[in-house]
Amino acid sequence: MLLKLDESLARGYHSNSQRIRVMSEYWIGHNAYCVVCGSVINQYANNNPASDFYCPKCKENYELKSKKGRSLLISDGAYQPMIDKVRNNETPSFFLLNYTESLDISDVVMVARYFFTESIIIPRKPLSPTARRAGWVGCNIDLKQIPEDGKIFLVKNFIVMPKNEVIEKCQKTIFLKGFSDIKSKGWTLDVMKCLDDLKKQEFTLEDLYAFETILQMKYPENHHIRPKIRQQLQILRDNGYIEFLGKGTYHIR
Ligand SMILES: [Zn+2]
Repeated sequence: MLLKLDESLARGYHSNSQRIRVMSEYWIGHNAYCVVCGSVINQYANNNPASDFYCPKCKENYELKSKKGRSLLISDGAYQPMIDKVRNNETPSFFLLNYTESLDISDVVMVARYFFTESIIIPRKPLSPTARRAGWVGCNIDLKQIPEDGKIFLVKNFIVMPKNEVIEKCQKTIFLKGFSDIKSKGWTLDVMKCLDDLKKQEFTLEDLYAFETILQMKYPENHHIRPKIRQQLQILRDNGYIEFLGKGTYHIR
Protein backbone atom coordinates (compact mmCIF):
# COMPACT_ATOMS: atom_id res chain seq x y z
CA MET A 1 0.00 0.00 0.00
CA LEU A 2 1.70 3.16 -1.19
CA LEU A 3 0.92 6.08 1.11
CA LYS A 4 0.97 8.74 -1.55
CA LEU A 5 -1.59 10.55 -3.67
CA ASP A 6 -0.87 10.11 -7.39
CA GLU A 7 -0.52 13.54 -8.96
CA SER A 8 -0.66 12.19 -12.51
CA LEU A 9 -4.38 11.49 -11.97
CA ALA A 10 -5.07 15.18 -11.43
CA ARG A 11 -3.84 16.38 -14.83
CA GLY A 12 -6.41 18.57 -16.48
CA TYR A 13 -7.99 19.69 -13.20
CA HIS A 14 -7.32 23.27 -12.25
CA SER A 15 -9.01 23.74 -8.92
CA ASN A 16 -7.01 22.35 -6.03
CA SER A 17 -10.06 20.88 -4.32
CA GLN A 18 -10.96 18.97 -7.49
CA ARG A 19 -7.40 17.68 -7.84
CA ILE A 20 -7.37 16.44 -4.25
CA ARG A 21 -10.82 14.94 -4.74
CA VAL A 22 -9.76 12.90 -7.80
CA MET A 23 -6.53 11.68 -6.20
CA SER A 24 -8.01 10.78 -2.83
CA GLU A 25 -11.04 9.03 -4.35
CA TYR A 26 -8.70 6.90 -6.40
CA TRP A 27 -6.57 6.07 -3.39
CA ILE A 28 -9.51 5.10 -1.20
CA GLY A 29 -11.15 3.11 -4.01
CA HIS A 30 -7.98 1.06 -4.53
CA ASN A 31 -6.62 0.75 -1.00
CA ALA A 32 -9.39 1.09 1.56
CA TYR A 33 -11.99 -1.55 2.37
CA CYS A 34 -15.25 -1.86 4.24
CA VAL A 35 -14.19 -1.57 7.87
CA VAL A 36 -17.31 -3.37 9.05
CA CYS A 37 -16.92 -6.57 7.00
CA GLY A 38 -13.57 -6.34 5.17
CA SER A 39 -15.05 -6.41 1.66
CA VAL A 40 -13.79 -4.26 -1.22
CA ILE A 41 -15.76 -1.03 -1.59
CA ASN A 42 -17.21 0.41 -4.76
CA GLN A 43 -17.46 4.02 -5.78
CA TYR A 44 -20.89 5.46 -6.54
CA ALA A 45 -21.39 7.05 -9.92
CA ASN A 46 -20.56 10.76 -9.94
CA ASN A 47 -22.63 13.25 -7.99
CA ASN A 48 -24.33 10.92 -5.60
CA PRO A 49 -25.38 13.48 -3.00
CA ALA A 50 -25.46 11.10 -0.06
CA SER A 51 -22.13 9.27 -0.11
CA ASP A 52 -19.11 8.33 -2.22
CA PHE A 53 -18.49 4.62 -1.63
CA TYR A 54 -20.57 1.62 -0.67
CA CYS A 55 -19.92 -1.91 0.43
CA PRO A 56 -21.58 -4.39 -1.96
CA LYS A 57 -21.60 -7.03 0.80
CA CYS A 58 -22.96 -5.35 3.95
CA LYS A 59 -24.35 -2.18 2.26
CA GLU A 60 -22.44 0.24 4.50
CA ASN A 61 -22.08 3.73 2.93
CA TYR A 62 -19.01 5.91 3.19
CA GLU A 63 -18.39 9.56 2.50
CA LEU A 64 -14.83 10.66 1.82
CA LYS A 65 -13.31 13.78 3.31
CA SER A 66 -9.74 14.84 2.65
CA LYS A 67 -7.78 17.37 4.56
CA LYS A 68 -4.26 18.71 4.49
CA GLY A 69 -2.60 18.43 7.90
CA ARG A 70 -3.70 16.20 10.73
CA SER A 71 -6.78 18.00 11.97
CA LEU A 72 -9.85 16.12 13.17
CA LEU A 73 -12.14 19.06 12.45
CA ILE A 74 -13.70 18.62 9.05
CA SER A 75 -15.92 20.99 7.16
CA ASP A 76 -19.17 19.72 5.79
CA GLY A 77 -22.22 21.15 4.02
CA ALA A 78 -25.25 22.95 5.39
CA TYR A 79 -25.77 22.79 9.17
CA GLN A 80 -29.50 22.10 9.56
CA PRO A 81 -29.75 19.28 7.00
CA MET A 82 -26.77 17.61 8.71
CA ILE A 83 -28.46 17.87 12.11
CA ASP A 84 -31.62 16.36 10.60
CA LYS A 85 -29.60 13.51 9.14
CA VAL A 86 -28.00 12.78 12.52
CA ARG A 87 -31.41 12.81 14.24
CA ASN A 88 -32.81 10.40 11.66
CA ASN A 89 -29.75 8.11 11.66
CA GLU A 90 -29.17 8.88 7.99
CA THR A 91 -25.54 10.00 7.96
CA PRO A 92 -23.07 7.79 6.10
CA SER A 93 -19.86 6.68 7.79
CA PHE A 94 -16.82 8.82 7.02
CA PHE A 95 -13.36 8.17 5.72
CA LEU A 96 -11.09 11.06 6.58
CA LEU A 97 -7.83 11.13 4.64
CA ASN A 98 -5.09 13.46 5.89
CA TYR A 99 -2.25 14.35 3.55
CA THR A 100 0.88 16.46 3.67
CA GLU A 101 2.11 19.30 1.47
CA SER A 102 4.07 16.72 -0.56
CA LEU A 103 0.89 14.55 -0.94
CA ASP A 104 2.04 11.82 1.42
CA ILE A 105 -0.83 10.20 3.29
CA SER A 106 -0.38 10.52 7.05
CA ASP A 107 -3.70 9.14 8.32
CA VAL A 108 -6.83 7.48 7.07
CA VAL A 109 -9.50 7.17 9.71
CA MET A 110 -12.99 5.73 9.48
CA VAL A 111 -15.63 7.19 11.75
CA ALA A 112 -18.73 5.04 11.86
CA ARG A 113 -22.07 6.78 11.41
CA TYR A 114 -23.41 5.38 14.68
CA PHE A 115 -20.90 7.53 16.57
CA PHE A 116 -22.46 10.72 15.25
CA THR A 117 -24.43 12.88 17.69
CA GLU A 118 -25.74 16.41 17.40
CA SER A 119 -23.03 17.76 19.69
CA ILE A 120 -20.23 16.96 17.21
CA ILE A 121 -21.92 19.04 14.48
CA ILE A 122 -20.77 22.62 15.00
CA PRO A 123 -22.45 25.49 13.12
CA ARG A 124 -20.15 27.86 11.26
CA LYS A 125 -20.72 31.62 11.15
CA PRO A 126 -23.53 32.54 8.71
CA LEU A 127 -22.26 33.90 5.38
CA SER A 128 -22.13 37.70 5.30
CA PRO A 129 -25.08 39.72 3.93
CA THR A 130 -23.01 40.58 0.84
CA ALA A 131 -22.27 36.94 0.00
CA ARG A 132 -24.10 35.24 -2.84
CA ARG A 133 -25.69 32.83 -0.36
CA ALA A 134 -26.13 35.41 2.42
CA GLY A 135 -27.09 33.94 5.77
CA TRP A 136 -26.25 30.37 4.74
CA VAL A 137 -24.91 28.33 7.66
CA GLY A 138 -22.44 25.53 7.05
CA CYS A 139 -21.08 23.13 9.63
CA ASN A 140 -17.91 21.53 10.91
CA ILE A 141 -17.75 18.01 12.26
CA ASP A 142 -15.62 17.78 15.37
CA LEU A 143 -14.19 14.27 15.44
CA LYS A 144 -12.21 15.09 18.60
CA GLN A 145 -15.40 14.67 20.61
CA ILE A 146 -15.86 11.11 19.42
CA PRO A 147 -14.59 8.34 21.77
CA GLU A 148 -11.24 6.86 20.70
CA ASP A 149 -12.84 3.51 19.86
CA GLY A 150 -15.04 5.31 17.33
CA LYS A 151 -12.03 6.45 15.32
CA ILE A 152 -10.81 3.46 13.38
CA PHE A 153 -7.46 4.13 11.76
CA LEU A 154 -6.55 2.27 8.58
CA VAL A 155 -3.40 4.36 8.40
CA LYS A 156 -2.03 6.08 11.47
CA ASN A 157 0.95 8.42 11.49
CA PHE A 158 2.25 7.07 8.12
CA ILE A 159 1.85 3.42 9.22
CA VAL A 160 -0.65 0.99 7.69
CA MET A 161 -2.65 -0.81 10.38
CA PRO A 162 -3.16 -4.60 9.97
CA LYS A 163 -6.56 -5.18 8.38
CA ASN A 164 -7.65 -7.85 10.87
CA GLU A 165 -6.98 -5.48 13.78
CA VAL A 166 -8.94 -2.71 12.06
CA ILE A 167 -11.98 -4.93 11.56
CA GLU A 168 -11.71 -6.30 15.09
CA LYS A 169 -11.68 -2.79 16.51
CA CYS A 170 -14.77 -1.92 14.51
CA GLN A 171 -16.58 -5.02 15.80
CA LYS A 172 -15.94 -3.95 19.39
CA THR A 173 -18.42 -1.08 19.12
CA ILE A 174 -20.74 -2.31 16.39
CA PHE A 175 -23.49 -2.86 18.98
CA LEU A 176 -24.06 0.91 18.80
CA LYS A 177 -25.50 0.39 15.32
CA GLY A 178 -28.64 -0.99 16.93
CA PHE A 179 -29.19 2.08 19.16
CA SER A 180 -31.81 4.06 17.32
CA ASP A 181 -32.64 6.47 20.18
CA ILE A 182 -30.10 9.22 19.59
CA LYS A 183 -30.54 10.73 23.07
CA SER A 184 -29.81 7.57 25.00
CA LYS A 185 -26.96 6.75 22.61
CA GLY A 186 -25.50 10.18 23.40
CA TRP A 187 -25.24 9.09 27.03
CA THR A 188 -23.49 5.86 26.12
CA LEU A 189 -20.96 7.77 24.00
CA ASP A 190 -20.42 10.33 26.77
CA VAL A 191 -19.59 7.60 29.26
CA MET A 192 -17.24 5.99 26.71
CA LYS A 193 -15.52 9.34 26.37
CA CYS A 194 -15.14 9.52 30.18
CA LEU A 195 -13.54 6.07 30.06
CA ASP A 196 -11.06 7.42 27.47
CA ASP A 197 -10.20 10.28 29.78
CA LEU A 198 -9.57 7.90 32.68
CA LYS A 199 -6.79 6.33 30.62
CA LYS A 200 -6.85 3.01 32.45
CA GLN A 201 -8.02 -0.49 31.65
CA GLU A 202 -9.40 -1.14 35.13
CA PHE A 203 -11.60 1.39 36.85
CA THR A 204 -14.11 1.77 39.64
CA LEU A 205 -17.51 3.36 39.82
CA GLU A 206 -15.96 6.11 41.97
CA ASP A 207 -13.54 6.91 39.13
CA LEU A 208 -16.48 7.60 36.86
CA TYR A 209 -18.41 9.59 39.46
CA ALA A 210 -15.55 12.12 39.21
CA PHE A 211 -17.13 13.14 35.87
CA GLU A 212 -20.45 13.98 37.52
CA THR A 213 -19.93 17.77 37.35
CA ILE A 214 -18.89 17.69 33.68
CA LEU A 215 -21.88 15.53 32.74
CA GLN A 216 -24.19 17.72 34.82
CA MET A 217 -23.06 20.72 32.76
CA LYS A 218 -23.84 18.88 29.59
CA TYR A 219 -27.23 17.71 30.88
CA PRO A 220 -28.45 20.52 33.19
CA GLU A 221 -32.00 19.15 33.19
CA ASN A 222 -30.95 15.75 34.45
CA HIS A 223 -30.87 15.37 38.24
CA HIS A 224 -29.87 11.73 38.30
CA ILE A 225 -26.39 11.75 36.84
CA ARG A 226 -24.99 8.95 39.02
CA PRO A 227 -27.83 6.51 38.30
CA LYS A 228 -27.42 7.43 34.63
CA ILE A 229 -23.71 6.56 34.77
CA ARG A 230 -24.56 3.20 36.37
CA GLN A 231 -27.21 2.54 33.73
CA GLN A 232 -24.71 3.21 30.94
CA LEU A 233 -22.13 0.92 32.53
CA GLN A 234 -24.75 -1.81 32.52
CA ILE A 235 -25.43 -1.19 28.82
CA LEU A 236 -21.70 -1.29 28.04
CA ARG A 237 -21.38 -4.48 30.07
CA ASP A 238 -24.36 -6.16 28.41
CA ASN A 239 -22.76 -5.44 25.04
CA GLY A 240 -19.38 -6.86 26.00
CA TYR A 241 -17.55 -3.55 25.91
CA ILE A 242 -16.57 -3.74 29.59
CA GLU A 243 -16.72 -6.52 32.15
CA PHE A 244 -17.58 -6.36 35.82
CA LEU A 245 -14.84 -7.77 38.04
CA GLY A 246 -16.75 -7.45 41.32
CA LYS A 247 -16.46 -4.99 44.24
CA GLY A 248 -17.33 -2.00 42.06
CA THR A 249 -14.41 -2.66 39.70
CA TYR A 250 -14.67 -2.87 35.93
CA HIS A 251 -12.35 -3.80 33.11
CA ILE A 252 -12.38 -2.42 29.56
CA ARG A 253 -12.15 -5.24 27.06
ZN1 LIG B 1 -19.14 -4.25 4.38
